[in-house]
Amino acid sequence: MFGQQPTRTSAPPSLRAFLTTLPESDIIRIQEPVDIDHVPTALVMSLESRPNPPVVWIEQPHPFKTPVVCNLFASRERIAKAIGVSPGEFNATWIAAVNNPLKPRVIDNGPAHEIVHLDAAVDAACLPISRHFEGDAGRYIGSGILVCKDPDTGVGNLSYQRLQLKESNRFGASLHSRGHIWEHLNRCRELGRNLEVAVVIGVHPAVNLAASAKVAKEVDEYDIACGLLGEPLDLVRCKTIDLCVPAHAEIVLEGELLADTNEPEGPYGEYTGYSTSRSTNDVFVVKAITHRQAPIFHDIIPGYSAEHLLLSRSPREAYIYMRMKEILPNLKAINYPKSGTHFHAYVSLKKTAEGQANHALTLLMGLDPYVKLAVAVDEDIDVFDEQDVLWALATRFQADTDLFVIPNGFCNRLDPSSRNGTSAKLGLDATAPLDWDVVKTRVPVAATEAAQRILSSLANPLHAGNRP
Ligand code: MN
Repeated sequence: MFGQQPTRTSAPPSLRAFLTTLPESDIIRIQEPVDIDHVPTALVMSLESRPNPPVVWIEQPHPFKTPVVCNLFASRERIAKAIGVSPGEFNATWIAAVNNPLKPRVIDNGPAHEIVHLDAAVDAACLPISRHFEGDAGRYIGSGILVCKDPDTGVGNLSYQRLQLKESNRFGASLHSRGHIWEHLNRCRELGRNLEVAVVIGVHPAVNLAASAKVAKEVDEYDIACGLLGEPLDLVRCKTIDLCVPAHAEIVLEGELLADTNEPEGPYGEYTGYSTSRSTNDVFVVKAITHRQAPIFHDIIPGYSAEHLLLSRSPREAYIYMRMKEILPNLKAINYPKSGTHFHAYVSLKKTAEGQANHALTLLMGLDPYVKLAVAVDEDIDVFDEQDVLWALATRFQADTDLFVIPNGFCNRLDPSSRNGTSAKLGLDATAPLDWDVVKTRVPVAATEAAQRILSSLANPLHAGNRP
């Protein structure tokens, strides 16, 4: 729960400190050369069917020297571990951090500045930036946290925006999610100046999670990161711009988003699983690159990868859970299944009155315009097990009475089936009626335990036979 120290070594929070807390079984280290283009994506997607997909550590991302770490966010267990809890405690801990933000601390110097390249020495092309999908316009940074601040209020902002490598000091950028950074750049345009931005690669995963949170413009995501860590995060001042970055970051690109220049950017593989050219066609120019000695390049495989979806879904689920729970205290759990990208959600509740399932479904759709299919189930159904949700639909749902459709709802335009930014919303009530008289088949707990004992005793002689 909140207040408990996150699991980590005594070292300050950083990517490498977090990696040392993971058991060996949670990391696949690849020593042979791995082509930087496409293969990291293929590795991560091939691992997705495993229950807890491991971190992938590529020691030789050909033709580069800097190692690449990816798939950090593919497992709910690891995401929860990043904030020191179990998956079942994630939502409550997240909510506590959002309600109890802490300020970071600015220190004079940090490992992020061990190596500094300025001006002509800047060469982003020598970073192991991958080409992720076949249709991508080029090599893209998918994991960079863009740090900036509100030109009027000075309130800081962290977010992810795709960055296409174009030249040694130039990237194409798309701010199409129209977040706070997009508002800041538009304000800078009115003021006739560029927006200073630092791109941070390789931080403690709690900082990555905070950067994917959707919070009010008045809230600095650094404060959420500190709330999640339970302590102030150390920051250092950038060398060439008026911003602060995590002192223990692996790699930082300092620069500006240009106010007066647009250039084609994209297409790029998006979270929907489709390649898209929707872009604000912005330009990021790099003034300095700083990094640790022997840095690690952290990639987040983009598109429809489990890690990309879970990184943004986990804070989203916690936020929606928090808001729904205020109105509906008998809400039990919420899951945005991977199969539905950000468009499907399953909720479970302990129903005490008829109508509560539809109440839950309409609340959910009101809070999250991305959702176009929502299913409500009873508390005995595991929303994280799609088989279980489908079984509830098979046995507790009738299509003539238990569904509703809201036409022409606001939605996310990246859904290729949407029409001009609108979509139909489908709610399915797969909860049983309160006066139901059927009995669910069960196996006694003792029998299940006996079966497990029998099966493990059968397996053991096989292992024993292999021993000398
Ligand atoms: Mn913000």
